[in-house]
Amino acid sequence: MNNKLYGNLIFELSHPGTCGYSLPNNRFPHHEVPAEMRRANDAELPECDEMTVVRHYTNHSANNFGVNNGFYPLGSCTMKYNPVINEEVAMMPQFQNLHPLQPDYTCQGALEVYYNLQKALCELTGLAEFTINPCAGAHGELTGLMAIRSYHQARGDHKRVKVIVPDSAHGTNPASAAVCGLEIVEVKSTANGLVDVEDLKPLLGDDIAAMMMTNPNTLGLFEKEIPEIAELVHACGGLMYYDGANLNPMLGASRPGDMGFDVMHINLHKTFSTPHGGGGPGSGPVGVRADMVQFLPKPTVKKLDDGSFTLVNDLQDGTYDVTRNHIGAFLGNFAVILRAYTYILTLGRENIKMVGPLATLNANYIKESLKDVYELPIPGVCKHEFVFDGLKDKSTDVTTMDVAKRLLDYGYHAPTIYFPLLFHQSLMIEPTENESKQTIDGFIEVMRKIADEAKNTPELVKTAPHNAPITRVDDVLAAMHPITTYRMIVNDDKQ
Ligand SMILES: *Cc1c(COP(=O)(O)O)cnc(C)c1O
Repeated sequence: MNNKLYGNLIFELSHPGTCGYSLPNNRFPHHEVPAEMRRANDAELPECDEMTVVRHYTNHSANNFGVNNGFYPLGSCTMKYNPVINEEVAMMPQFQNLHPLQPDYTCQGALEVYYNLQKALCELTGLAEFTINPCAGAHGELTGLMAIRSYHQARGDHKRVKVIVPDSAHGTNPASAAVCGLEIVEVKSTANGLVDVEDLKPLLGDDIAAMMMTNPNTLGLFEKEIPEIAELVHACGGLMYYDGANLNPMLGASRPGDMGFDVMHINLHKTFSTPHGGGGPGSGPVGVRADMVQFLPKPTVKKLDDGSFTLVNDLQDGTYDVTRNHIGAFLGNFAVILRAYTYILTLGRENIKMVGPLATLNANYIKESLKDVYELPIPGVCKHEFVFDGLKDKSTDVTTMDVAKRLLDYGYHAPTIYFPLLFHQSLMIEPTENESKQTIDGFIEVMRKIADEAKNTPELVKTAPHNAPITRVDDVLAAMHPITTYRMIVNDDKQ
């Protein structure tokens, strides 16, 4: 992009008096905005011609990096390819122009999509029922924990106020538990990165509402002790919550419901190929075992005996309980639901089984190809992702941050860095199942090259990126004193 011609900020391109667009004349003179409600001075807007505006924003958009631009191995985030067919279905006017309050008989197709996705998720996870109302993973966690709290309270069991969360958990786990009004108890990991069962035992008691687990965990490792952990937690009266935000490695391999989990959430915007990032719309469906279905929020979609679909709004017993009724507006982010359903149908029953094994193979291939130059703190087979603890050669002072910045010069998005917090130089890599061996080999080659540069020309790595539109930024300054507005001087000058 040519920043000189088309500007970093649209304000820098402003030429007072230029008109890019004019509104039509007011055809309703009797409906003038009352004088006392009008602004005293003109709005401080940049004044540019239309072509300049179009070029400014088009050139900026070309600076975006997405899965469609290049390899994006962001661990814990599953930056999966979003096929255009998903977008085509989500953009169909028959879906786009629906009104959430129109009668059931006029939107049978939409209700069927919702219902079928609920059923597909049940089949993929081994749970009895799903709600697709929650709008994010964290929102799903809160919904699931509310269902757990309702379950205990419905039995008159009011002592259960604690949730056990592993020290390797995603930050949203303790946050959701706190929002739900529950207390958080941390359980430690062993040196090989799995939940420490011996540390867990003394935490269990009649005040435990649930234990939250991520499997494979944040290190990409399969929690082998789950059957024993589930037995221990159930024996004390608690429930097992599965954080299924990253369900990718499990597709076709195993099901949380079969492992002893009672409640879970899934991120449609990670595992099921709907785009995410930058806080865009998401979807965090929540599934429960059969005897907890009544604690899921409403509305939900039911299939009637005549094959038609209907929206169920109230609890079966006719009571309305806001704490376990609506969790969001209507049925959630419907366009995300459409994309996920399209993705599942595109793959079909047979091919969806290959997602987990291929993602796992790709991750292990990268790990094994790089572990002689990057520090692998926990060796062995990983699932869909893994964590390096910086460069193996500790004689250089090149950090994980430097490696990540240097990758940008080579046209790759950086992996997740400095998370999980278990290591000082975490570099968390997650390829997805769609990447070819050639793409992955290219990434491995560049990672090896950077390790080489760190040794021979460390300054080159420490001052990277060199080819990006913006080079090193001062992270601390940007976080502590962000400049988010433009100080207009144009109008002041005129006055
Ligand atoms: C992404 C993620 C979440 C949170 O999902 P959001 O949609 O960002 O709220 C929770 N747990 C894990 C393990 C995740 O990777």
